[in-house]
Amino acid sequence: MRKFFARIAGTVLIGVLYLLLPLLPLLATVIFARLRFTTRYLSTLKKMRVHIAALSQGPAVHFFQDILGQVSQVPDDIQGECVQCGNCCMNHQCVFLEKVDEKKFQCGVYHSLFRKLSNCGSFPINRHDIERYACPSYFAQAPQASAISRPQRVIPIEMVKG
Ligand code: SF4
Repeated sequence: MRKFFARIAGTVLIGVLYLLLPLLPLLATVIFARLRFTTRYLSTLKKMRVHIAALSQGPAVHFFQDILGQVSQVPDDIQGECVQCGNCCMNHQCVFLEKVDEKKFQCGVYHSLFRKLSNCGSFPINRHDIERYACPSYFAQAPQASAISRPQRVIPIEMVKG
């Protein structure tokens, strides 16, 4: 039943985002306190369209089905350190992703509460999460091994003001 409602909620969210599309750069400026989303309106708009299309390919439903009200951080049986490849940022289609160099990316809204509450805040939540984005650094620990204390998770993607 949760899966059914997640599909409905995901579809509604995508529809609302498309309806609000012309306003999204402005909303992003207000929500994330970053003027560049508005000063680079057309560029942001194009990236928003790509972002929403990517959200509609699974992440929106995944949010309502697996994340919302259930998970807010990476589970204890997941270990590793992020190398900032950007794969989990919807395969580099996230509008907030910023390129650092050829192989390294960072999140432009990393410290936002909205990011922490989204799929990003608890990625990866399981082996499937790791595999679907081909994450090169995190791995799911065997159940008995996960009982042993683990080092603090390294922040995956750091923000640079721009
Ligand atoms: S969590 Fe994994 S997939 Fe995501 S940016 Fe870091 S290394 Fe890449």
